Amino acid sequence: MTRLNITVKDILKVSQNRSPFGDQLIKDSWNFAKKVHGNQKRLSGEPYLSHPALVAYLLAGSGLDKSTIAAGLLHDTLEDTQTTHKELKENFGKEVADLVRGVTKVGGLKYAKKRQQAGNLRNLFIAAARDIRVIIIKLFDRLHNLETLEYHNKERQKRKAIESLEIYAPIAQRLGMDSLRIEIEDLAFLNLYPKEYKKVADFREKRVKETEESVKDTLKIIKKELKKNKIKLRAEVRKKGIYSLFKKIKRIKNIDPELIYDLTPIRVIVEDSSSCYQAMGIIHSKFRPLPKNIKDFISFPKPNGYQALHTSIFTGKGEVIEVQMMTEEMSRRADLGVAYNFSLQDDSSAFSNLRSQVFGFAGKKKSKKYQSSKKIPGWFEEMVSNQKDMKNTNEFFNNLSKDFFNYRILVFTPKGDIVNLPIDSSPIDFAYYVHSDLGDQLKAVEIDGEKSSLSAKLKNGNIVEIITSPSATPSSNWLNYVKTTLAKKKIRRFLEKQKK
Ligand code: MN
Repeated sequence: MTRLNITVKDILKVSQNRSPFGDQLIKDSWNFAKKVHGNQKRLSGEPYLSHPALVAYLLAGSGLDKSTIAAGLLHDTLEDTQTTHKELKENFGKEVADLVRGVTKVGGLKYAKKRQQAGNLRNLFIAAARDIRVIIIKLFDRLHNLETLEYHNKERQKRKAIESLEIYAPIAQRLGMDSLRIEIEDLAFLNLYPKEYKKVADFREKRVKETEESVKDTLKIIKKELKKNKIKLRAEVRKKGIYSLFKKIKRIKNIDPELIYDLTPIRVIVEDSSSCYQAMGIIHSKFRPLPKNIKDFISFPKPNGYQALHTSIFTGKGEVIEVQMMTEEMSRRADLGVAYNFSLQDDSSAFSNLRSQVFGFAGKKKSKKYQSSKKIPGWFEEMVSNQKDMKNTNEFFNNLSKDFFNYRILVFTPKGDIVNLPIDSSPIDFAYYVHSDLGDQLKAVEIDGEKSSLSAKLKNGNIVEIITSPSATPSSNWLNYVKTTLAKKKIRRFLEKQKK
């Protein structure tokens, strides 16, 4: 990879919506990360800073906002240095500090050995992240870790690769971050199944060569015809990812893989959406389309926001090629997915809107009802009702059952252990869940590092720290706040004992 030696200048150069304030934040984060990582080295022997630098560079290049870029630079400081959340908050503000804490927390989730738990971990991952930018940072972090996987021992390599295929790639797909998903999948696949990888890669290269001529000729005709009709365009020939191709070949067992026609789709990029429809009409008048293969994702976008027109055409030379028509904006969104929204504007509204879309709770400005994790994100519902798109996302989705987010929340002990509680549970429920002594001697509680009331309602992703005192005792009052039967039982038992 020729991605080494990223400097803070490189990061600033590729970032969008720059401002003197944002540039300063990024420079300060760079200097801070450089100082606290000091002489630490990556396993590859490179200075540690090269890793957060690359993560921040990729975030900047994908259009993420300044706070996310800063958090990218700082993302390993809580885990690998003496830095505290408080320190980050004082230096860079709550937003950046919370992002870094989120990344650290999510990073602590370990992949269980059993395959069927992948779905659970994906749930936890999402619930723990709370802010979608945490997930985006984590995805780029994972990408770079995969690129430098060779420096780990075999067992760790394998665990990371499986985790990437089962947790990270489906999340990237769900967020519409296609370029990133393909990179993650292909690197992990190469590590896990090098022989199969090579077989599929060779097959793809063979097919690319075989179809090269007819793709070129087709493209020439498309360009000429569109120009004749005064439609401005830019065209690209894309390549299907190795792992996607592998899955497709496996799926269509009975069909000759030579017939896969989205191996090298042509992407035709035009000025606006009406030109997309016009372009498709013109292309169809020159090349016969494959019946039943025309898809209008402009009128009916995919749940992850993807928009384009798709058609597959006979080239007249024995080949069928997929052609995608989209605008520049759609094309960028197709590659960057959810990250694209951040490139549009650099203020907090972009992400708080997204956050409410994805997780069902929004920034503080919104009314109380949005803060509850009861609300099912719109795209979940959309996916349930939209059977057509279920095929692609089913795998990701089937574990994210409605009931789960309707009735349960996930919170953390200070050590990162996950506690699964009914919605609206209080710190008292939490304490009794962890240990009955913890409940009986419960004195005070800190939620996300701040003193809170015992009657507070816990929210997804909270870190809950219980402060005990040997002289503290349960009060009958508590029965008004607790949700779990376990806590109720224990409190009643204590009160009865006391009476006696
Ligand atoms: Mn990292």
